[in-house]
Amino acid sequence: QPDPTLRPEPRPEDFDRALRPQALADFIGQAEARANLSVFIQSARQRGEAMDHTLFHGPPGLGKTTLAQIIARELGVGFRMTSGPVLAKAGDLAAILTNLEARDVLFIDEIHRLNPAVEEVLYPAMEDFELDLVIGEGPAARTVRIELQPFTLVGATTRLGLLTTPLRDRFGIPTRLQFYTEDELHEIVTRNGHKLGVPTDDGGAREIARRSRGTPRIAGRLLRRVVDFALVEGDGKVTQALADGALTRLGVDHLGLDGADRRYLRFVAENYGGGPVGIDTISAALSESRDALEEVIEPFLLQQGLIQRTPRGRMLAQKAWRHLGLEAPRPKDQ
Ligand code: ADP
Repeated sequence: QPDPTLRPEPRPEDFDRALRPQALADFIGQAEARANLSVFIQSARQRGEAMDHTLFHGPPGLGKTTLAQIIARELGVGFRMTSGPVLAKAGDLAAILTNLEARDVLFIDEIHRLNPAVEEVLYPAMEDFELDLVIGEGPAARTVRIELQPFTLVGATTRLGLLTTPLRDRFGIPTRLQFYTEDELHEIVTRNGHKLGVPTDDGGAREIARRSRGTPRIAGRLLRRVVDFALVEGDGKVTQALADGALTRLGVDHLGLDGADRRYLRFVAENYGGGPVGIDTISAALSESRDALEEVIEPFLLQQGLIQRTPRGRMLAQKAWRHLGLEAPRPKDQ
Protein backbone atom coordinates (compact mmCIF):
# COMPACT_ATOMS: atom_id res chain seq x y z
CA GLN A 1 0.00 0.00 0.00
CA PRO A 2 1.66 3.29 -1.06
CA ASP A 3 1.77 5.99 1.59
CA PRO A 4 -0.80 8.48 0.25
CA THR A 5 0.83 11.37 2.10
CA LEU A 6 3.97 10.99 0.00
CA ARG A 7 2.26 11.50 -3.32
CA PRO A 8 2.03 14.99 -4.75
CA GLU A 9 -1.46 16.44 -4.57
CA PRO A 10 -2.92 16.03 -8.06
CA ARG A 11 -4.44 19.09 -9.67
CA PRO A 12 -8.22 18.93 -10.05
CA GLU A 13 -8.02 18.25 -13.80
CA ASP A 14 -5.64 15.35 -13.28
CA PHE A 15 -7.90 14.01 -10.63
CA ASP A 16 -10.88 14.15 -12.96
CA ARG A 17 -9.03 12.45 -15.75
CA ALA A 18 -7.75 9.72 -13.47
CA LEU A 19 -11.24 8.92 -12.24
CA ARG A 20 -13.10 9.13 -15.54
CA PRO A 21 -14.35 5.72 -16.60
CA GLN A 22 -12.70 4.77 -19.91
CA ALA A 23 -15.06 2.10 -21.26
CA LEU A 24 -18.79 1.58 -21.33
CA ALA A 25 -18.33 -1.46 -19.12
CA ASP A 26 -16.65 0.70 -16.42
CA PHE A 27 -19.41 3.28 -16.53
CA ILE A 28 -21.70 2.77 -13.55
CA GLY A 29 -25.38 3.71 -13.67
CA GLN A 30 -27.56 5.06 -16.51
CA ALA A 31 -28.31 1.41 -17.29
CA GLU A 32 -30.90 2.10 -19.96
CA ALA A 33 -28.80 4.68 -21.82
CA ARG A 34 -25.77 2.42 -21.59
CA ALA A 35 -27.58 -0.61 -22.98
CA ASN A 36 -28.92 1.38 -25.92
CA LEU A 37 -25.61 3.07 -26.67
CA SER A 38 -23.86 -0.25 -26.64
CA VAL A 39 -26.18 -1.45 -29.44
CA PHE A 40 -25.76 1.72 -31.51
CA ILE A 41 -21.97 1.61 -31.14
CA GLN A 42 -21.78 -2.03 -32.16
CA SER A 43 -24.10 -1.50 -35.10
CA ALA A 44 -22.08 1.48 -36.38
CA ARG A 45 -18.91 -0.59 -36.10
CA GLN A 46 -20.42 -3.49 -38.00
CA ARG A 47 -21.66 -1.19 -40.76
CA GLY A 48 -18.40 0.72 -40.82
CA GLU A 49 -20.37 3.94 -40.72
CA ALA A 50 -20.46 6.98 -38.46
CA MET A 51 -22.78 6.51 -35.50
CA ASP A 52 -25.93 8.61 -35.55
CA HIS A 53 -25.82 12.04 -33.89
CA THR A 54 -26.43 11.81 -30.16
CA LEU A 55 -27.77 14.37 -27.72
CA PHE A 56 -27.21 14.03 -23.96
CA HIS A 57 -29.33 16.16 -21.71
CA GLY A 58 -29.57 16.44 -17.94
CA PRO A 59 -28.10 18.33 -14.99
CA PRO A 60 -24.34 19.06 -14.83
CA GLY A 61 -21.92 16.39 -13.60
CA LEU A 62 -23.94 13.31 -14.58
CA GLY A 63 -21.46 12.02 -17.18
CA LYS A 64 -22.33 13.62 -20.52
CA THR A 65 -18.73 14.45 -21.41
CA THR A 66 -17.53 11.11 -20.10
CA LEU A 67 -20.01 9.19 -22.24
CA ALA A 68 -19.05 11.18 -25.34
CA GLN A 69 -15.40 10.22 -24.83
CA ILE A 70 -16.32 6.61 -24.22
CA ILE A 71 -18.36 6.51 -27.44
CA ALA A 72 -15.36 7.71 -29.46
CA ARG A 73 -13.08 5.19 -27.78
CA GLU A 74 -15.46 2.29 -28.32
CA LEU A 75 -16.01 3.29 -31.93
CA GLY A 76 -12.24 3.43 -32.33
CA VAL A 77 -12.35 6.95 -33.79
CA GLY A 78 -10.93 10.38 -32.97
CA PHE A 79 -12.52 12.73 -30.43
CA ARG A 80 -12.76 16.51 -30.80
CA MET A 81 -14.29 18.69 -28.12
CA THR A 82 -15.66 22.22 -28.17
CA SER A 83 -18.58 24.13 -26.67
CA GLY A 84 -21.44 26.33 -27.81
CA PRO A 85 -20.20 29.64 -26.40
CA VAL A 86 -16.67 29.10 -27.76
CA LEU A 87 -17.85 28.90 -31.39
CA ALA A 88 -18.35 32.59 -32.06
CA LYS A 89 -18.40 32.59 -35.86
CA ALA A 90 -19.56 30.19 -38.55
CA GLY A 91 -15.92 29.95 -39.63
CA ASP A 92 -14.88 28.59 -36.22
CA LEU A 93 -17.16 25.61 -36.65
CA ALA A 94 -16.27 25.21 -40.34
CA ALA A 95 -12.59 24.94 -39.40
CA ILE A 96 -13.30 22.15 -36.96
CA LEU A 97 -15.66 20.28 -39.29
CA THR A 98 -13.28 20.32 -42.26
CA ASN A 99 -10.54 18.85 -40.07
CA LEU A 100 -12.55 15.85 -38.90
CA GLU A 101 -11.56 12.43 -40.12
CA ALA A 102 -14.09 9.87 -41.25
CA ARG A 103 -16.41 8.73 -38.43
CA ASP A 104 -14.81 10.99 -35.79
CA VAL A 105 -16.83 12.13 -32.79
CA LEU A 106 -17.28 15.89 -32.40
CA PHE A 107 -18.48 16.79 -28.91
CA ILE A 108 -20.21 20.16 -28.46
CA ASP A 109 -20.89 20.97 -24.82
CA GLU A 110 -23.56 23.55 -23.91
CA ILE A 111 -24.99 23.16 -27.38
CA HIS A 112 -28.03 25.26 -26.40
CA ARG A 113 -25.70 28.29 -26.39
CA LEU A 114 -24.72 28.13 -30.08
CA ASN A 115 -24.88 31.39 -31.98
CA PRO A 116 -27.70 31.13 -34.60
CA ALA A 117 -25.25 31.79 -37.47
CA VAL A 118 -23.13 28.86 -36.29
CA GLU A 119 -26.19 26.68 -35.87
CA GLU A 120 -27.14 27.33 -39.52
CA VAL A 121 -23.83 25.81 -40.59
CA LEU A 122 -24.48 22.77 -38.45
CA TYR A 123 -27.76 21.76 -40.12
CA PRO A 124 -26.42 20.69 -43.56
CA ALA A 125 -23.29 19.36 -41.87
CA MET A 126 -25.32 17.04 -39.67
CA GLU A 127 -27.81 16.06 -42.34
CA ASP A 128 -25.74 15.64 -45.50
CA PHE A 129 -22.16 16.06 -44.28
CA GLU A 130 -21.92 19.19 -46.37
CA LEU A 131 -20.79 22.69 -45.65
CA ASP A 132 -22.04 25.77 -47.49
CA LEU A 133 -19.47 28.52 -47.22
CA VAL A 134 -19.92 32.07 -48.47
CA ILE A 135 -16.74 33.35 -50.07
CA GLY A 136 -16.22 37.04 -50.72
CA GLU A 137 -18.61 39.92 -50.15
CA GLY A 138 -21.28 41.93 -51.95
CA PRO A 139 -22.09 41.12 -55.60
CA ALA A 140 -18.94 39.02 -55.93
CA ALA A 141 -19.98 36.74 -53.06
CA ARG A 142 -20.60 33.15 -53.97
CA THR A 143 -21.35 29.98 -52.10
CA VAL A 144 -19.14 26.97 -52.28
CA ARG A 145 -20.22 23.58 -51.13
CA ILE A 146 -17.62 21.49 -49.30
CA GLU A 147 -18.05 17.78 -48.75
CA LEU A 148 -17.27 16.68 -45.20
CA GLN A 149 -16.25 13.32 -43.89
CA PRO A 150 -19.18 11.58 -42.21
CA PHE A 151 -18.95 12.23 -38.46
CA THR A 152 -20.92 11.80 -35.26
CA LEU A 153 -22.02 14.92 -33.44
CA VAL A 154 -22.48 14.40 -29.72
CA GLY A 155 -24.22 17.37 -28.16
CA ALA A 156 -24.66 17.99 -24.45
CA THR A 157 -27.06 20.36 -22.76
CA THR A 158 -28.35 21.06 -19.30
CA ARG A 159 -31.36 22.83 -20.84
CA LEU A 160 -33.18 20.78 -23.44
CA GLY A 161 -35.95 23.40 -23.55
CA LEU A 162 -33.54 26.02 -24.90
CA LEU A 163 -32.59 23.97 -27.96
CA THR A 164 -34.23 25.05 -31.19
CA THR A 165 -36.57 22.48 -32.72
CA PRO A 166 -34.62 22.11 -36.00
CA LEU A 167 -31.44 21.33 -34.05
CA ARG A 168 -33.17 18.95 -31.70
CA ASP A 169 -34.78 17.10 -34.61
CA ARG A 170 -31.42 16.38 -36.18
CA PHE A 171 -30.29 14.13 -33.34
CA GLY A 172 -31.15 10.50 -34.02
CA ILE A 173 -30.28 9.43 -30.48
CA PRO A 174 -31.63 11.80 -27.80
CA THR A 175 -30.68 10.52 -24.36
CA ARG A 176 -31.73 11.85 -21.00
CA LEU A 177 -29.33 11.26 -18.11
CA GLN A 178 -30.85 10.65 -14.69
CA PHE A 179 -29.64 11.37 -11.18
CA TYR A 180 -27.73 8.37 -9.79
CA THR A 181 -29.06 6.15 -7.04
CA GLU A 182 -27.30 5.89 -3.71
CA ASP A 183 -26.14 2.36 -4.58
CA GLU A 184 -24.63 3.50 -7.87
CA LEU A 185 -22.82 6.39 -6.18
CA HIS A 186 -21.64 4.01 -3.46
CA GLU A 187 -19.97 1.92 -6.13
CA ILE A 188 -18.47 4.99 -7.82
CA VAL A 189 -17.07 6.31 -4.53
CA THR A 190 -15.62 2.92 -3.63
CA ARG A 191 -13.93 2.57 -7.02
CA ASN A 192 -12.61 6.13 -6.93
CA GLY A 193 -11.24 5.63 -3.42
CA HIS A 194 -9.50 2.54 -4.69
CA LYS A 195 -8.06 4.38 -7.71
CA LEU A 196 -6.75 7.08 -5.36
CA GLY A 197 -5.18 4.52 -3.06
CA VAL A 198 -7.41 5.57 -0.16
CA PRO A 199 -9.53 2.81 1.33
CA THR A 200 -13.17 3.65 1.98
CA ASP A 201 -15.14 1.27 4.15
CA ASP A 202 -18.77 0.47 3.35
CA GLY A 203 -20.17 3.04 5.78
CA GLY A 204 -17.80 5.77 4.62
CA ALA A 205 -18.59 5.26 0.96
CA ARG A 206 -22.31 5.16 1.72
CA GLU A 207 -22.19 8.38 3.69
CA ILE A 208 -20.52 10.20 0.77
CA ALA A 209 -22.89 8.59 -1.74
CA ARG A 210 -25.95 9.64 0.26
CA ARG A 211 -24.79 13.25 0.36
CA SER A 212 -23.69 13.70 -3.28
CA ARG A 213 -26.94 15.07 -4.73
CA GLY A 214 -27.24 12.09 -7.06
CA THR A 215 -24.22 13.39 -9.00
CA PRO A 216 -20.88 11.63 -9.68
CA ARG A 217 -19.00 14.92 -10.06
CA ILE A 218 -20.10 15.95 -6.56
CA ALA A 219 -19.28 12.48 -5.24
CA GLY A 220 -15.75 12.91 -6.62
CA ARG A 221 -15.39 16.34 -5.08
CA LEU A 222 -16.71 15.28 -1.67
CA LEU A 223 -14.51 12.19 -1.65
CA ARG A 224 -11.50 14.37 -2.30
CA ARG A 225 -12.37 16.64 0.63
CA VAL A 226 -13.13 13.74 2.96
CA VAL A 227 -9.79 12.20 2.04
CA ASP A 228 -8.12 15.47 3.10
CA PHE A 229 -9.69 15.14 6.54
CA ALA A 230 -8.84 11.44 6.69
CA LEU A 231 -5.17 12.13 5.96
CA VAL A 232 -4.75 15.13 8.21
CA GLU A 233 -7.04 14.43 11.12
CA GLY A 234 -7.73 10.70 10.86
CA ASP A 235 -5.67 7.60 10.16
CA GLY A 236 -6.09 7.81 6.36
CA LYS A 237 -9.21 5.63 6.33
CA VAL A 238 -12.55 6.89 5.11
CA THR A 239 -15.03 5.59 7.67
CA GLN A 240 -18.61 6.63 8.18
CA ALA A 241 -17.84 8.69 11.28
CA LEU A 242 -15.00 10.46 9.50
CA ALA A 243 -17.09 11.16 6.38
CA ASP A 244 -20.02 12.37 8.47
CA GLY A 245 -17.83 14.77 10.46
CA ALA A 246 -16.03 16.09 7.39
CA LEU A 247 -19.18 16.64 5.33
CA THR A 248 -20.95 18.36 8.20
CA ARG A 249 -18.00 20.71 8.58
CA LEU A 250 -18.21 21.41 4.83
CA GLY A 251 -21.84 22.44 5.24
CA VAL A 252 -23.23 19.44 3.34
CA ASP A 253 -26.26 18.18 5.23
CA HIS A 254 -27.78 14.71 5.46
CA LEU A 255 -29.77 15.08 2.22
CA GLY A 256 -26.67 16.39 0.45
CA LEU A 257 -27.93 19.96 0.38
CA ASP A 258 -25.30 22.68 0.61
CA GLY A 259 -25.52 26.28 1.73
CA ALA A 260 -26.97 27.52 -1.56
CA ASP A 261 -29.76 24.92 -1.50
CA ARG A 262 -30.69 25.74 2.07
CA ARG A 263 -30.67 29.49 1.38
CA TYR A 264 -33.14 28.86 -1.44
CA LEU A 265 -35.47 26.82 0.74
CA ARG A 266 -35.22 29.16 3.72
CA PHE A 267 -35.91 32.20 1.53
CA VAL A 268 -39.14 30.70 0.19
CA ALA A 269 -40.14 29.52 3.67
CA GLU A 270 -39.37 32.65 5.63
CA ASN A 271 -40.26 35.37 3.13
CA TYR A 272 -43.11 33.81 1.20
CA GLY A 273 -44.64 31.37 3.68
CA GLY A 274 -43.59 28.51 1.40
CA GLY A 275 -44.69 30.15 -1.86
CA PRO A 276 -45.74 30.26 -4.57
CA VAL A 277 -42.99 32.68 -5.52
CA GLY A 278 -41.61 33.46 -8.98
CA ILE A 279 -38.19 32.29 -10.04
CA ASP A 280 -37.07 35.85 -10.85
CA THR A 281 -37.87 36.98 -7.32
CA ILE A 282 -35.82 34.13 -5.88
CA SER A 283 -33.01 34.88 -8.29
CA ALA A 284 -32.88 38.57 -7.32
CA ALA A 285 -33.08 37.89 -3.60
CA LEU A 286 -30.35 35.23 -3.58
CA SER A 287 -28.12 36.98 -6.16
CA GLU A 288 -28.01 33.77 -8.15
CA SER A 289 -28.62 33.81 -11.89
CA ARG A 290 -31.90 32.33 -12.99
CA ASP A 291 -29.93 29.88 -15.15
CA ALA A 292 -27.92 28.64 -12.19
CA LEU A 293 -31.10 28.13 -10.18
CA GLU A 294 -32.83 26.26 -12.99
CA GLU A 295 -29.84 24.19 -14.11
CA VAL A 296 -28.02 23.41 -10.91
CA ILE A 297 -30.09 23.99 -7.79
CA GLU A 298 -33.69 23.22 -8.70
CA PRO A 299 -33.40 19.88 -10.53
CA PHE A 300 -32.22 18.11 -7.37
CA LEU A 301 -34.70 19.89 -5.09
CA LEU A 302 -37.48 18.83 -7.48
CA GLN A 303 -36.21 15.29 -7.72
CA GLN A 304 -36.09 15.06 -3.92
CA GLY A 305 -39.65 16.32 -3.64
CA LEU A 306 -38.54 19.37 -1.64
CA ILE A 307 -40.11 21.90 -3.99
CA GLN A 308 -42.82 21.95 -6.63
CA ARG A 309 -43.12 24.01 -9.77
CA THR A 310 -46.58 25.46 -10.23
CA PRO A 311 -47.92 27.90 -12.83
CA ARG A 312 -47.84 30.58 -10.09
CA GLY A 313 -44.28 29.91 -9.02
CA ARG A 314 -42.20 27.67 -6.80
CA MET A 315 -43.65 26.10 -3.65
CA LEU A 316 -42.08 24.25 -0.77
CA ALA A 317 -43.27 20.72 -0.14
CA GLN A 318 -43.89 19.31 3.36
CA LYS A 319 -40.55 17.54 3.22
CA ALA A 320 -38.72 20.87 2.90
CA TRP A 321 -40.39 22.32 6.00
CA ARG A 322 -39.46 19.20 7.94
CA HIS A 323 -35.91 19.35 6.62
CA LEU A 324 -35.53 22.97 7.69
CA GLY A 325 -36.97 22.12 11.09
CA LEU A 326 -39.72 24.66 10.58
CA GLU A 327 -43.45 24.42 11.10
CA ALA A 328 -45.37 24.53 7.81
CA PRO A 329 -48.20 27.05 7.85
CA ARG A 330 -51.58 25.36 8.24
CA PRO A 331 -53.68 25.32 5.06
CA LYS A 332 -56.17 27.85 6.43
CA ASP A 333 -53.37 30.41 6.91
CA GLN A 334 -52.33 30.28 3.27
P1 ADP B 1 -21.14 16.35 -17.48
O1 ADP B 1 -20.47 16.43 -18.82
O2 ADP B 1 -22.50 15.72 -17.53
O3 ADP B 1 -21.17 17.66 -16.74
P2 ADP B 1 -18.85 14.71 -16.78
O4 ADP B 1 -18.89 13.66 -17.83
O5 ADP B 1 -17.83 15.79 -16.93
O6 ADP B 1 -20.29 15.35 -16.56
O7 ADP B 1 -18.62 13.96 -15.39
C1 ADP B 1 -18.29 14.66 -14.21
C2 ADP B 1 -17.37 13.84 -13.34
O8 ADP B 1 -18.07 12.71 -12.83
C3 ADP B 1 -16.15 13.29 -14.07
O9 ADP B 1 -15.05 13.39 -13.20
C4 ADP B 1 -16.47 11.84 -14.32
O10 ADP B 1 -15.32 11.06 -14.24
C5 ADP B 1 -17.42 11.50 -13.19
N1 ADP B 1 -18.43 10.55 -13.65
C6 ADP B 1 -19.51 10.85 -14.40
N2 ADP B 1 -20.26 9.76 -14.60
C7 ADP B 1 -19.64 8.75 -13.98
C8 ADP B 1 -19.94 7.35 -13.81
N3 ADP B 1 -21.04 6.81 -14.34
N4 ADP B 1 -19.08 6.60 -13.11
C9 ADP B 1 -18.00 7.16 -12.55
N5 ADP B 1 -17.66 8.46 -12.66
C10 ADP B 1 -18.47 9.25 -13.36
